[in-house]
Amino acid sequence: MIRSLLIANRGEIAVRIMRTCRRLGIRSVAVFSEADRHARHVAEADEAIGIGPAPARDSYLRVDAIIDAALRSGAEAVHPGYGFLSEKVELAAACAKAGLVFIGPSPDCIAAMGPKIGSKLIAAKAGLPSVPGYVGDDQSDARLIEEATKIGYPVMVKASAGGGGRGMRPVASETELAAALDIARREAEAAFGDSALLIEKLVQRPRHLEVQIAGDKHGNVVHLFERDCSVQRNNQKVLEEAPAPNLPEHVRRKLLDRGVALAKAIGYDNLGTVEFILEQGMEEPWFLEMNTRLQVEHPVTESITGFDLVEWQIRIAAGEPLPVHQNEIVAKGHAIEARITAERADAGFRSDIGRISSYSEPATIRIDSGIVAGSDVTMFYDSMLAKAIAYAGNREEACGRLAAGLRETVIAGVATTIPFLIDCIEHSLFRSGSATTGFIPEAFPGTWSPGREFERVARAVAVVEALGAARPADPENPWNSLKGFRLLQPSGGRAVSRVVVEEDESRMPLAVETIGGGRYRAIDDGGAIELSLRKCGAGFEVDSDGRLVRMQVTGDGANVHVAVGRERYTFSITSEVDRATAAGSASGSGNILSKMPGIVTEIRVSPGDRVEAGEVVAVLESMKLFISLTAEVAGVVKEVSCTQGQTVPAGARLLVIEEAA
Ligand code: ADP
Ligand code: ADP
Ligand code: MG
Repeated sequence: MIRSLLIANRGEIAVRIMRTCRRLGIRSVAVFSEADRHARHVAEADEAIGIGPAPARDSYLRVDAIIDAALRSGAEAVHPGYGFLSEKVELAAACAKAGLVFIGPSPDCIAAMGPKIGSKLIAAKAGLPSVPGYVGDDQSDARLIEEATKIGYPVMVKASAGGGGRGMRPVASETELAAALDIARREAEAAFGDSALLIEKLVQRPRHLEVQIAGDKHGNVVHLFERDCSVQRNNQKVLEEAPAPNLPEHVRRKLLDRGVALAKAIGYDNLGTVEFILEQGMEEPWFLEMNTRLQVEHPVTESITGFDLVEWQIRIAAGEPLPVHQNEIVAKGHAIEARITAERADAGFRSDIGRISSYSEPATIRIDSGIVAGSDVTMFYDSMLAKAIAYAGNREEACGRLAAGLRETVIAGVATTIPFLIDCIEHSLFRSGSATTGFIPEAFPGTWSPGREFERVARAVAVVEALGAARPADPENPWNSLKGFRLLQPSGGRAVSRVVVEEDESRMPLAVETIGGGRYRAIDDGGAIELSLRKCGAGFEVDSDGRLVRMQVTGDGANVHVAVGRERYTFSITSEVDRATAAGSASGSGNILSKMPGIVTEIRVSPGDRVEAGEVVAVLESMKLFISLTAEVAGVVKEVSCTQGQTVPAGARLLVIEEAA
């Protein structure tokens, strides 16, 4: 048996592999880039070795650095995870050369199944029908155009070496094809180092179905049933489940038989996934590609079969025969996985970066995560932070359990897709088990926007948190800076705080009155609401109008994050006094005043400089908060009346801008 294993990956999958290592008594060795020195996968490993700068090509994608780290650490084996080098024949071959066990199939299997063109030719020989298309050596425009006409439009142009949902584009008609081929070739060469293209029929209402395969070095091959990964965005999976819902038994049989047939045809060893596409309502699963590695969505298969697939991979690589026969592999119940990514689902799914200020997992479902509180989410790697996996006796219950588990999952500091995922899982189209890859635009035409049922209450609670009103004894409260403004209000008995709460582009003035006994009254432009707060874990149990809700509330010095049910809010709170002062300067002479007592940390302009309205002219630091002072009018800097490093009282005039005529 292998006693020490280097994991050539990062994030949730590295952490996941370590969990099996610990259970099996295997020493785990992590590798990390400079951006990941403090990452969770490094902290959880028995040993960790730096392999280079943050960009993946300088670290996680360097075969030589991985092999060197393995040899230095005395690891006997290398697990590549998924993505990065997992399907690169170079890593498998370099491991063999260095006397290391590669946790994956033989280099021959990887080489055979890596390029989509080659794998479809092999699949055809093994009797598997593929998506109708062209996978030939003749890559000339003339030939590809001729073949596309034979296939019939619309078609999908794909990079043979593509992966991760990248390198494919639909083409509607012949007039668009020549230009599309040109772009596709150049992109394929740049992204994957191989310009070869294939053309497929564009399937109109596709379901993505795949078969989990396992083979050993003794010629045995089994399947571990199928997964349905039809809910996708940009050809990347969002929700995955096992077994596939609404699949006629004879179609399932075809799928499983074909998966096994292909694995047998190439003498496949270790875990692999044979992917198929099935036109909704049809009965012929078409071969799409094979992934010669552990799949992101392997936990759903683990849930329904009860096996640890990483353990299988390690044992198979060590030369052990498969632990069970086909008839001993039984699928029971239903499992669904949701990929949690750091993206703004409400803003075109643009990725978000930052530091995780608070993190908590539900106890009811499995979470495979690569982060903890304090983790940095950087721009360098994939945006997937964690996966949530629910298992239950049937699909309906698994859906319910997953949605409930996600409601309880709190990741603050970066935006995540949690609210979006809950809406997907609860959508009637998904619930009916008839989603195709068109699910997201069908379910959420236009753009998706988050539910905001608790918005007003959440905003008021965030202000209470920021004022430190409910946690007065905490000297570490990062919001101490705001407390001063309560003193500006009439003291004794009730105190009223006037603040402005910002969220994205919106600003809402709010007055919060402390009534005592954990009770508050908040007045916004919608009227007054009364709240009663009781501390509860990392947040409050809030009684609003007789309705009790639990809110997780955390402040990170710049913002207050509130999680309530499926809703997630990030508020930035400033005293209305600041606002009034700023507004005063705007309407008047262009005076820039200090909004609160603080230290001038930065002056960005000099007398005579031209400034635009909204331009940041100076930065003030006040009790861990950095406050940008902006010019409210366009004009010329007439006077700079402070110096860098100077301590200034609230209301001091720092700069004067002469408004442009
Ligand atoms: P799965 O079918 O397991 O979901 P994917 O094809 O989505 O596999 O890829 C798994 C992960 O690896 C994703 O995070 C994806 O971004 C990444 N990945 C896969 N192939 C590549 C590739 N060729 N280049 C870069 N990243 C890739
Ligand atoms: P990757 O290597 O990036 O995973 P795949 O060939 O597995 O590429 O395709 C990924 C996804 O793209 C599929 O699950 C499917 O949703 C979509 N797709 C791929 N080929 C087609 C096609 N011919 N017609 C329609 N959708 C397709
Ligand atoms: Mg695929």
